[in-house]
Amino acid sequence: MVKPKQGCSNHRRSMDAGDLAPLVTEFMAHLRALGHSCLTVSGYEGSARHFACWLTRERLAVGNVDEDVVSRFARHRCRCPGIRRVKGVSEKYVRRARRFVDFLGERGIVRREPKSTSPAFDRHVIEFPEWLRHHRGITELTIGRHGRMVMRLLPALGRRSQSWDAQLIRDVILAETKRASLAYVSVFEPSTEIIRKGKAGKPNEFGKMVKLQEAENQIVIDYDVYDQRPSDSELLIPAIETHEAKLGRTPRLVAADAGFYSARNEAAAKARGVKRVCIPNRSTKSAERKREQKKRWFRNGQKWRTGCEGRISVVKRRHGLDRCRYKGSIGMKRWVGLGVVADNLINIGRAMENQSRQP
Ligand SMILES: [Zn+2]
Repeated sequence: MVKPKQGCSNHRRSMDAGDLAPLVTEFMAHLRALGHSCLTVSGYEGSARHFACWLTRERLAVGNVDEDVVSRFARHRCRCPGIRRVKGVSEKYVRRARRFVDFLGERGIVRREPKSTSPAFDRHVIEFPEWLRHHRGITELTIGRHGRMVMRLLPALGRRSQSWDAQLIRDVILAETKRASLAYVSVFEPSTEIIRKGKAGKPNEFGKMVKLQEAENQIVIDYDVYDQRPSDSELLIPAIETHEAKLGRTPRLVAADAGFYSARNEAAAKARGVKRVCIPNRSTKSAERKREQKKRWFRNGQKWRTGCEGRISVVKRRHGLDRCRYKGSIGMKRWVGLGVVADNLINIGRAMENQSRQP
């Protein structure tokens, strides 16, 4: 289906493409003809204009543009005239500029280099991305993905395409889906159980449960992947013990949701020296207890705990934890561990920066 092409221009023409302006216009017309949406085209336009503007600024002739020039653009600290909010350029942004360069290559304006992705592809498969590039309005990223998928299917299909039939193709695709789904299984669904200052938050799905335990500054001090789901109330005391073992002190406050509540847990936490145990007891009849749970410190503790739920989704999204790409239980643990390490690096860095700012 082809979308209507009217009104398809970027009104925020912030960067001046200079001498290359007609080529940018041609590039946009080319993208529209491929069926890209207005939004996509204006995204490409922004990158292409910026690239053109930067070329002029750097006094680089368009005929000399090559991969080296594009990577210089990727690294440049932007002082180009025009309105941009950020100083750097993102990978996606550079990919769009590269597409513009590819377009200039097709027009014979810049020297075409062999595609860097090509060597990974079979001789016959190389023509497939080329075809996609010219007949489908999809990004380079998607084209690359399609190419790699075909490369994966090829060994099972065999080299002689004349011998392929619908049944064979169907079987091969089903087998590949089955194989891939082991690695691509979605493993996390956040649940709300969290302990703060020794808090355990554990998303779970398919009976697998992951515990993330955080201390101050959102640094994860412990994580675990359980093969069998333990009950929430069993996790509380071990979480406090871990906190003590790793940080050498008992947390002042422990906050968790009602699933963690038991009279025994509360007593045990207090016995270990936790001053404030902030776990709601939903089934209490005691008016005194109900009053306690309405107090400011209690409400603040619970507010803090809810904040942690967002943290888990950050860890998930920022580091791709919601999609385990390793197989089996060991792979799963490695996957979660790498996500935690990555997230800790960010949060430790942030905490150090904040500390150094304090007088
Ligand atoms: Zn710039």
